[in-house]
Amino acid sequence: MAGGACDPAFRGGANLLTWAVFRGGREEGRDGAMSGNHPEIREAVAALCAGFPGEYWRKLDRERAYPTAFVKALTAAGYLAVLIPEKYGGSGLGISEAAAILEEIHKSGCNGGACHAQMYIMGTVLRHGSEKQKKKYLPKIATGELRLQAFGVTEPTSGTDTSRIHTTAKRVGNKYVINGQKVWTSRAEHSDLMLVLARTAPRDEGKKPHEGISVFLVEMRQALGKGLTVKPLRAMINHATTEVFFDDLKVPSENLIGEEGKGFRYLLDGLNAERILIAAEALGDAEWFIDKAKTYAGERRVFDRPIGQNQGIQFPIARAYAETQAAKLMTEKAIRLFDSGQACGAEANMAKLLAADASWNAADMCLQTHGGFGFAEEYDVERKFRETRLFQVAPISTNLILSYIAEHVLGLPRSF
Ligand SMILES: Cc1cc2nc3c(=O)[nH]c(=O)nc-3n(C[C@H](O)[C@H](O)[C@H](O)COP(=O)(O)OP(=O)(O)OC[C@H]3O[C@@H](n4cnc5c(N)ncnc54)[C@H](O)[C@@H]3O)c2cc1C
Repeated sequence: MAGGACDPAFRGGANLLTWAVFRGGREEGRDGAMSGNHPEIREAVAALCAGFPGEYWRKLDRERAYPTAFVKALTAAGYLAVLIPEKYGGSGLGISEAAAILEEIHKSGCNGGACHAQMYIMGTVLRHGSEKQKKKYLPKIATGELRLQAFGVTEPTSGTDTSRIHTTAKRVGNKYVINGQKVWTSRAEHSDLMLVLARTAPRDEGKKPHEGISVFLVEMRQALGKGLTVKPLRAMINHATTEVFFDDLKVPSENLIGEEGKGFRYLLDGLNAERILIAAEALGDAEWFIDKAKTYAGERRVFDRPIGQNQGIQFPIARAYAETQAAKLMTEKAIRLFDSGQACGAEANMAKLLAADASWNAADMCLQTHGGFGFAEEYDVERKFRETRLFQVAPISTNLILSYIAEHVLGLPRSF
């Protein structure tokens, strides 16, 4: 990943200082810094991903099919249970290891979007579920016997304003009856369990608009056809996303997570982990684009020279590298704070913002570096280009992060 071979200071009349820094055409320690911490985890993940090359993802993309074999391999290797405590059958590791896994998946050209939720949405059950719920579900989630891949938050009419969701859950005896609709519920067809956000009290009844929302764990295999309908939603990328309809779906009251009415608070509690892990995926994408562009720029000859000899090609690659490194530093800071139990809302949000921007800029650069071939399916650039665009919108859009920084970090007036 180091840019040493193309470094102009090294090749043309370098002074002593540059020689010291760029010894052997590589900045010292550069490879280590780029590949990051947990080298043994990264190596093992990269080895697993090597079994799922571009042609595997291309075929799935064409058919809009789910990467079942890839997800099974990650599950069998224990990577999706990394955040589950050992007492519930997981590895009990931190967000640092989870981020390394997802970054490496994306850096290898694969996509963690098919299963990343299995890693972290169980956090809602872990933090707020009863001991009975944890014992019942977490060990099976850890082995992959039960897949908890789906979290239904977004609705067609509420948009980012979760306080305005219309899905309701009414208590009737020892059950809740759920009615409503979700959209963009990813992986619902490939999950056994789904977390669902529903209103248990009207919006105007509480002191704050977000009160009165609750979280339920729906056992999908029992619910399908009995009040639960899942419809695939074809999208720009292969993300196994769906529309979900609830029509008098009955859920046992014991499947309420935590206290009634506090669901939005529980959702917020999981957001920092989500932001950091999505940042890690975006970083992995950025690294993939930079590597792909660097390789192509060195090989493609036009006007009797490699295109990478032209500064017009080099500079965008160098800029993408610098932006990615900066985003990586912010992500590492967020990880350090998170894993030591400190507040990290600002850092986690900034990491996601910067990493999503770095990956999108790197994608654009990589496509441009490839010229017409960037559009050809077989190079994988156009697929990754479409995939990495998602990070600007989901799971949280860039504007909403900027709004968070403006209001909560800079103290600017609340805008909504
Ligand atoms: C492929 C895919 C997978 C997804 N998976 C899931 C999932 O598994 N579960 C789930 O619950 N959701 C999922 N989502 C939904 C995703 O989280 C939302 O699309 C995202 O949060 C944005 O919400 P929205 O689409 O309703 O946009 P809207 O809220 O309608 O916003 C539209 C645009 O307006 C901007 N905007 C809105 N309000 C403001 C404001 N006050 N100031 C400035 N700009 C504003 C937004 O930034 C956005 O760019 C997924 C989406 C996609 C595309």
